[in-house]
Amino acid sequence: MDASTGSCNGCGAAGTALMKLSLGKDFFGRAYDRLSPSTDQSPKWYCEQCSMQKNLQRDFRDISAELDKLATGQGSQLSNTDEFQRASLRLREILTLLEAAQGRSPLLAGSDVKRLMERLTTVTMPA
Ligand SMILES: [Zn+2]
Repeated sequence: MDASTGSCNGCGAAGTALMKLSLGKDFFGRAYDRLSPSTDQSPKWYCEQCSMQKNLQRDFRDISAELDKLATGQGSQLSNTDEFQRASLRLREILTLLEAAQGRSPLLAGSDVKRLMERLTTVTMPA
Protein backbone atom coordinates (compact mmCIF):
# COMPACT_ATOMS: atom_id res chain seq x y z
CA MET A 1 0.00 0.00 0.00
CA ASP A 2 1.21 3.44 -0.87
CA ALA A 3 0.92 5.56 2.23
CA SER A 4 0.82 8.80 0.30
CA THR A 5 -2.43 7.92 -1.49
CA GLY A 6 -4.23 6.09 1.28
CA SER A 7 -6.52 7.33 3.96
CA CYS A 8 -6.43 6.90 7.69
CA ASN A 9 -7.98 3.65 8.94
CA GLY A 10 -9.19 5.49 12.02
CA CYS A 11 -10.81 8.74 10.93
CA GLY A 12 -10.61 8.43 7.15
CA ALA A 13 -8.44 11.52 6.73
CA ALA A 14 -6.69 11.61 3.37
CA GLY A 15 -3.87 13.75 2.06
CA THR A 16 -2.06 13.72 5.35
CA ALA A 17 1.03 11.87 6.51
CA LEU A 18 0.11 8.32 7.42
CA MET A 19 2.12 5.83 9.36
CA LYS A 20 1.90 2.12 9.55
CA LEU A 21 1.17 1.23 13.11
CA SER A 22 3.65 -1.03 14.74
CA LEU A 23 2.01 -2.70 17.69
CA GLY A 24 5.29 -3.89 19.18
CA LYS A 25 4.86 -4.85 22.81
CA ASP A 26 1.66 -4.63 24.73
CA PHE A 27 1.21 -2.63 27.91
CA PHE A 28 2.57 -5.45 30.04
CA GLY A 29 5.63 -5.95 27.88
CA ARG A 30 4.40 -9.00 26.04
CA ALA A 31 5.06 -9.30 22.32
CA TYR A 32 1.96 -8.41 20.38
CA ASP A 33 2.44 -10.31 17.17
CA ARG A 34 2.22 -13.64 18.91
CA LEU A 35 -1.15 -12.73 20.34
CA SER A 36 -2.64 -11.44 17.13
CA PRO A 37 -0.76 -12.72 14.08
CA SER A 38 -3.56 -11.52 11.79
CA THR A 39 -2.63 -7.94 12.64
CA ASP A 40 0.55 -8.28 10.66
CA GLN A 41 -1.17 -9.61 7.57
CA SER A 42 -3.38 -6.57 7.18
CA PRO A 43 -1.32 -3.61 8.28
CA LYS A 44 -3.30 -0.52 9.07
CA TRP A 45 -2.35 3.03 8.36
CA TYR A 46 -3.13 5.91 10.65
CA CYS A 47 -2.69 9.63 10.67
CA GLU A 48 -0.63 11.06 13.51
CA GLN A 49 -3.60 11.79 15.73
CA CYS A 50 -5.15 8.35 15.26
CA SER A 51 -1.90 6.47 15.73
CA MET A 52 -1.53 8.19 19.08
CA GLN A 53 -5.06 7.19 19.98
CA LYS A 54 -4.45 3.69 18.72
CA ASN A 55 -1.67 3.34 21.26
CA LEU A 56 -4.00 4.56 23.99
CA GLN A 57 -6.66 2.12 22.82
CA ARG A 58 -4.15 -0.72 22.89
CA ASP A 59 -3.15 0.01 26.49
CA PHE A 60 -6.80 0.45 27.43
CA ARG A 61 -7.66 -2.97 26.01
CA ASP A 62 -4.69 -4.66 27.67
CA ILE A 63 -5.60 -3.23 31.06
CA SER A 64 -9.26 -4.04 30.58
CA ALA A 65 -8.49 -7.67 29.68
CA GLU A 66 -6.21 -8.10 32.69
CA LEU A 67 -8.80 -6.53 34.97
CA ASP A 68 -11.37 -9.06 33.72
CA LYS A 69 -8.96 -11.84 34.63
CA LEU A 70 -8.32 -10.34 38.05
CA ALA A 71 -12.05 -9.98 38.72
CA THR A 72 -12.69 -13.62 37.84
CA GLY A 73 -9.78 -14.92 39.92
CA GLN A 74 -7.54 -15.90 37.01
CA GLY A 75 -3.85 -15.16 36.91
CA SER A 76 -3.53 -11.50 36.05
CA GLN A 77 -0.70 -9.05 35.51
CA LEU A 78 -2.65 -6.73 37.77
CA SER A 79 -2.24 -8.99 40.79
CA ASN A 80 1.24 -7.47 40.89
CA THR A 81 0.98 -4.26 42.95
CA ASP A 82 3.49 -2.39 40.78
CA GLU A 83 1.68 -3.29 37.57
CA PHE A 84 -1.61 -2.36 39.19
CA GLN A 85 -0.25 1.08 40.10
CA ARG A 86 1.23 1.53 36.66
CA ALA A 87 -2.08 0.59 35.03
CA SER A 88 -4.09 3.04 37.10
CA LEU A 89 -1.62 5.84 36.37
CA ARG A 90 -1.73 5.00 32.68
CA LEU A 91 -5.53 5.15 32.61
CA ARG A 92 -5.42 8.60 34.18
CA GLU A 93 -2.89 9.64 31.53
CA ILE A 94 -5.03 8.18 28.73
CA LEU A 95 -8.04 10.12 29.96
CA THR A 96 -6.04 13.35 30.09
CA LEU A 97 -4.79 12.82 26.54
CA LEU A 98 -8.29 12.03 25.27
CA GLU A 99 -9.68 15.14 26.89
CA ALA A 100 -6.90 17.17 25.29
CA ALA A 101 -8.04 15.79 21.93
CA GLN A 102 -11.40 17.43 22.67
CA GLY A 103 -13.58 14.47 21.92
CA ARG A 104 -12.13 14.01 18.48
CA SER A 105 -11.47 10.36 19.05
CA PRO A 106 -12.99 7.81 16.68
CA LEU A 107 -11.15 5.00 18.41
CA LEU A 108 -11.61 5.36 22.13
CA ALA A 109 -14.27 7.07 24.23
CA GLY A 110 -13.36 8.93 27.40
CA SER A 111 -16.45 7.50 29.09
CA ASP A 112 -15.12 3.96 28.56
CA VAL A 113 -11.83 4.94 30.15
CA LYS A 114 -13.66 6.47 33.13
CA ARG A 115 -15.69 3.30 33.56
CA LEU A 116 -12.54 1.19 33.56
CA MET A 117 -10.92 3.51 36.11
CA GLU A 118 -13.94 3.05 38.37
CA ARG A 119 -13.72 -0.71 38.02
CA LEU A 120 -10.04 -0.53 38.87
CA THR A 121 -10.71 1.37 42.10
CA THR A 122 -13.43 -1.04 43.21
CA VAL A 123 -11.67 -4.29 42.43
CA THR A 124 -10.46 -6.20 45.46
CA MET A 125 -6.79 -6.92 45.48
CA PRO A 126 -5.97 -10.52 46.37
CA ALA A 127 -4.18 -10.75 49.70
ZN1 LIG B 1 -6.89 9.50 11.48
